[in-house]
Amino acid sequence: MSEPLAPQYNPSSIESDLYRWWTDQGLFAPESHAPGSGDPYVIQMPPPNVTAVLHMGHGLNNTVQDVLIRFERMRGRRALWVPGTDHAGIATQNVVERLLAQEGLTRFDLGRDAFVDRVWAHVRETGASILDQLKAIGSSADWSRTYFTLDEGLSRAVRETFVRLYEEGLVYRGHYIINWCPRCLTALSNEEVDKEEVDGHIWHLRYGLQGGTGHVTVATTRPETMLGDTAVAVHPSDDRYSHLIGRQVLLPVVDRSIPIIADDAVDPEFGSGAVKVTPAHDPLDFEIGRRHALPSIDVMTPEARISLAAPDRFQGLDRYEARSRILAELESSGLLERVEEHRHAVGHCYRCATVIEPRLSDQWFVRMESLARPALAAYRDGTISFVPERRGDDYTSWLEAIRDWVISRQLWWGHRIPVWYCDSPACGATSVSRTDLSACPECKGPARQDEDVLDTWFSSWLVPFSSLGWPDNTKDLAMYYPGNTLVSSPDILFFWVARMIMSGLHFMGQVPYTRIYLHGVVRDTQHRKMSKSLGNGIDPLEVVERYGADALRYSLISGMSVGTDVILDPKDLESTFAPARNFANKLWNAGRFILSNLDGPPRPLGGDHPVVVRKKELTLADRWILARCDATVVEATEAYERFRLNEAAGAIYRFIWSDLADWYIEQVKPRLYGEQPGGDVARAVVAQTFDVALRLLHPVMPFITEALWRKFAGRPETASISIAPWPRADRRAQDPDALRDFGLVQELVGAIRGIRAEYGIAPGQVVRAVVTPNDATASKGLEQERSTIIRLAKLAALSLGENRERVGGHAVLSDGSAVFVPLGEAIDIGRECGRLGSEVDRLGRMVESQERKLGNEQFVSRAPGDVVERERQKLTAWKEQSQVLLKKRELLGCS
Ligand SMILES: [Zn+2]
Ligand SMILES: [Zn+2]
Repeated sequence: MSEPLAPQYNPSSIESDLYRWWTDQGLFAPESHAPGSGDPYVIQMPPPNVTAVLHMGHGLNNTVQDVLIRFERMRGRRALWVPGTDHAGIATQNVVERLLAQEGLTRFDLGRDAFVDRVWAHVRETGASILDQLKAIGSSADWSRTYFTLDEGLSRAVRETFVRLYEEGLVYRGHYIINWCPRCLTALSNEEVDKEEVDGHIWHLRYGLQGGTGHVTVATTRPETMLGDTAVAVHPSDDRYSHLIGRQVLLPVVDRSIPIIADDAVDPEFGSGAVKVTPAHDPLDFEIGRRHALPSIDVMTPEARISLAAPDRFQGLDRYEARSRILAELESSGLLERVEEHRHAVGHCYRCATVIEPRLSDQWFVRMESLARPALAAYRDGTISFVPERRGDDYTSWLEAIRDWVISRQLWWGHRIPVWYCDSPACGATSVSRTDLSACPECKGPARQDEDVLDTWFSSWLVPFSSLGWPDNTKDLAMYYPGNTLVSSPDILFFWVARMIMSGLHFMGQVPYTRIYLHGVVRDTQHRKMSKSLGNGIDPLEVVERYGADALRYSLISGMSVGTDVILDPKDLESTFAPARNFANKLWNAGRFILSNLDGPPRPLGGDHPVVVRKKELTLADRWILARCDATVVEATEAYERFRLNEAAGAIYRFIWSDLADWYIEQVKPRLYGEQPGGDVARAVVAQTFDVALRLLHPVMPFITEALWRKFAGRPETASISIAPWPRADRRAQDPDALRDFGLVQELVGAIRGIRAEYGIAPGQVVRAVVTPNDATASKGLEQERSTIIRLAKLAALSLGENRERVGGHAVLSDGSAVFVPLGEAIDIGRECGRLGSEVDRLGRMVESQERKLGNEQFVSRAPGDVVERERQKLTAWKEQSQVLLKKRELLGCS
């Protein structure tokens, strides 16, 4: 790290070296930087799928977490960010199945063991590269604690959880209607089903009454399920049908007799008020079937083809083919009464987008009500809070309406369910076990393990404690549970965030974290979520390569306020990321200038306390930058604490770019160059404020700040900004007088620059300025920075006092002080008068013709209102412009 700073900021040449240096030093493990001290501060990383490729969503989520963890680490907390990867049962299995399909194979060709081996091989080969990608964006997770949800330790935690919940009666096996994906061939929880609005139909079908004439009309959106109807139901108090209850209808197409029954669950307002009942294919019908002891006829195979339980001619047909065949038959026999257009929500598999089929099957469930109750209470009593707050309502309503969680999946990749069945008819025991069983514990006969695996989320809902060694009582568990903050996108609030709170309360007796920050999502300029299928994504690694990780991070953080989405333009990376890169360049150049002018360790100001240099040695500009620096410390720290990361970034940006680089460094140059006295004080102030600025910015832009910070002379070789103390606010640096007085200096320089621009004075041309201060305070302040004003406004002379000249440009400052710049010496007044004169004439002609146009009755009455309005606005603008030019002419004394 001793080589000089490169003249050009080149992120790719510093980032990977610095990252390696950080990890070599073990800086991300809390033990190494806070031995024995500091309150723990823990964040659990949402474990990415093991085969995932980094996308902008990960980029945003992990940048936010990294900013918070770096902030707390610098504040002296024992900061631990726990990383891991998720085996992602269904997603990973699908990836490998697609690969097999390219070889013309299915998982069934390989068999279970060979298939699982194949998935492991795939995971070992491609997996965890996402973690390297997270490193490329600067994530400072403690990689020594990286877990995988199928690791031995976490698998043990999963088993322990299952067995305990079973013993407590909270895990049970049940025969219910669940969501079924006919492509993935597995059950899915309600949360794994994406509801999507689609254009569909309602078909009204006639079921003829038996033993008489007439019919009952039923309405359905899935006519193919009629093959499995076992009743028609009406509401008990529906007068239209009360005389028919107990009679039979003939189920068309199938020619089977089914009864008409009465049930309170029927909505008399829907369709005709009579509904078909298909217990094997609809959750509500399933309940009705239970109450009336109706048979369940499962007319579909797992692949959603018509099963052998249906008439021969439909068997083997895909569900939609069957639908059209059935509708054709009904139509030709006059039993299709009518068809309505109908827009409704249809469930799709969240992994493959296939339409879900409700299916009756044996599955394992977790009883959620008693787990949800304490999780709700934890929110209501303020133990946990959400940022933004409104997310608490989503959390509450989900928990209040919670249903049992189906946790078995008909997959091969995952934690196999620890249940063994005895096949001996005499015994038939079901055994749930923490260890693998080779025989039935009851009769010692052969036992076979449940074929299914557990929902992926059944392992990830445990990570706040399973990643720390639970169920063992480890040191990590004692030290780092419960954690503090959870940072997530809102889409896994129910899948993961809420379930972790439930499991934490149930197994550990404490919530896993107290503050939940649900940030927005990354969208394109049309506000569409970035996605692979839309092709509107931005590859974060490409951004890192072209603009640097710091620029990526700064762009994401500064583009996001609490609860809002981040908009990035995938079609224009340059305008999206160049502003952040330009900021990095500005910082780099300022840093190079400062460091090259320090020659040796600066005279200490005493840590963050500027009073070591005696206050009377400080110039107005010194006092001003120290006060601005202190105000920025306060503002940024508060903003970081409140997760207002964009506000923190904005405050630091303004301090570095404007206060420090554009003003203070410019102001201080003559002292640094030895042209004015007080160079050592200037060096002390510039060194301290720059050091503070780097530390404040470090959480957002870790690489460039480290590269510059380590270059301060006298820094020990092992010093890292990542564990440097967080800057503290210091009341002694507060200086409202300096802020006011130097603020006036800035305003004055700005005003003179404005006048120069307005009259086209060449940049190299010096001018005089006469300033009439409003009061003695203003006069004193300006006098102190006289040489700064002269230099920065390019003045030949500055007089403070009464202005007696007439010809020139002038301005009034916010405190009432007047500025006058005589122009006679700087520009050719005669020519300027001429230019202004012809411009006034031109505007006059335009005004005249516009007035004629607007005085024309025909135009005004015929043209659209907004066109007329626009023309009126033009007229007003030209008139005003003309007044301005006339005023200028007057000031220049034009004849
Ligand atoms: Zn699927
Ligand atoms: Zn047995």
